[in-house]
Amino acid sequence: MVVEPKSIQDIIATLTYARATRQKITVCSGGHSFSANHLRDNSMLILMKGFNSYEINADTLTAKAGPGVGGSVLMLELYKHNLFFPAGHCKGVCIGGYLLQGGYGWNGRKLGIACQSVIGLDIITADGELVHANAEQNSDLFWAARGAGPGFFGIVICFHLKLYPIPKYRAIIAHDFYMNHLEDVYTWAYEVGPVIPKAVEFQMIMSNNMLNLLGPGIEAIAPIFADTKDEYEEAMAFMKNSPIKSKAVIATPAFNPGIDMLYKTTMTHYPEEQYWGVDNMWTHAPLNDLMPFIKEIARTLPPEPSHFLWLNWHPGHLSTDMAYSNEDNTYLALYSTWKNAEDTPTYGDWAANMMRQMAHLSTGIQLADEGLHQRTAPFLSNSHLKKLQEIRAQRDPHGLFYEWHSRPVIK
Ligand SMILES: Cc1cc2nc3c(=O)[nH]c(=O)nc-3n(C[C@H](O)[C@H](O)[C@H](O)COP(=O)(O)OP(=O)(O)OC[C@H]3O[C@@H](n4cnc5c(N)ncnc54)[C@H](O)[C@@H]3O)c2cc1C
Repeated sequence: MVVEPKSIQDIIATLTYARATRQKITVCSGGHSFSANHLRDNSMLILMKGFNSYEINADTLTAKAGPGVGGSVLMLELYKHNLFFPAGHCKGVCIGGYLLQGGYGWNGRKLGIACQSVIGLDIITADGELVHANAEQNSDLFWAARGAGPGFFGIVICFHLKLYPIPKYRAIIAHDFYMNHLEDVYTWAYEVGPVIPKAVEFQMIMSNNMLNLLGPGIEAIAPIFADTKDEYEEAMAFMKNSPIKSKAVIATPAFNPGIDMLYKTTMTHYPEEQYWGVDNMWTHAPLNDLMPFIKEIARTLPPEPSHFLWLNWHPGHLSTDMAYSNEDNTYLALYSTWKNAEDTPTYGDWAANMMRQMAHLSTGIQLADEGLHQRTAPFLSNSHLKKLQEIRAQRDPHGLFYEWHSRPVIK
């Protein structure tokens, strides 16, 4: 059964009905879960896309937004007010699923994981009560809702967000390399990673057709969000002075793409209406150990827009008390994507199979790009997963809400 509630009362009535008929609940906001986490057997699916209104308060630097608000929609509106939020990189992704799992967004290395900018939530609990959760009240739910991701046990109807002034100096620099420079490119990225300033979300995308034009290669991309001229100059330096810049087939100067172009650029790698097979890992493994697998990825990578993402993260210390607890220096993600159902047997398992081979080098996964229907891997620290399950037992004692497709065993 699929329910499209128009009001809070509709949601409460749906939960009452599910409890009475012993059905489980799944929730969907933007529907961008790569593993289609909300499609589960014998469940009632609640579609929250209609909860998509938002209010921006420029004076207090806060906003209230429903889970069905697209991250790009919010960003567009914030830009008009010279404000900013670390929203996700693609159109279509809604803040519902995005913020529950953490949220790796624009300027995320500097502003932190997006759920660190959630200051409160309005939630309907498993027993059908509407509550507000923040650091002071219902703090167990507040803790859980920032990191539980697709395993959250309640329905978020509104997020209360902290906003930021828009970074004054915004730019992208890109260097594109053919595949014969693979070793040089990853060696440089690995070596420079620890010193890349926080105002840069440095990433590299390997695909079989760079820029939809150049054939197989690696795009090294540095989006910069700096508040001062000095910070901007410092952020650009590692690209400007890159020792392998001369090997690039294209090396762009820094340019400000504007918000529309920013999203258009990312959408070339994440088109709509596609099938996806996705998996990922966090790592701090030595490059020598990773390199044979990177070469194997290059050798077996499905046709574009399938790609391999290397994201330089190098987190600081995670100071906020929340369920989210798993990150590391480098994030590696495989996105296999194809247009026709008959290609599923060919490309469907590639990402999970590759990640299985590399699992000994991994310190866990992100829930953003989870493929837990195909492969189990740790997504929270052991102690946080244990605490989360204790809160679940209190808040959803009868297991009304589905958990993740699979979860690692708590040690
Ligand atoms: C093209 C694409 C690009 C992406 N880019 C990024 C990115 O830049 N950064 C990043 O961090 N992630 C990114 N993701 C991952 C994305 O953030 C997650 O898949 C996220 O869960 C999507 O949110 P959604 O609301 O659209 O998805 P949904 O599929 O609707 O939600 C995912 C799960 O979250 C839970 N959920 C959703 N809404 C609610 C609610 N209101 N109450 C309770 N539980 C709820 C449900 O368990 C649901 O199954 C991307 C995904 C895609 C497909």
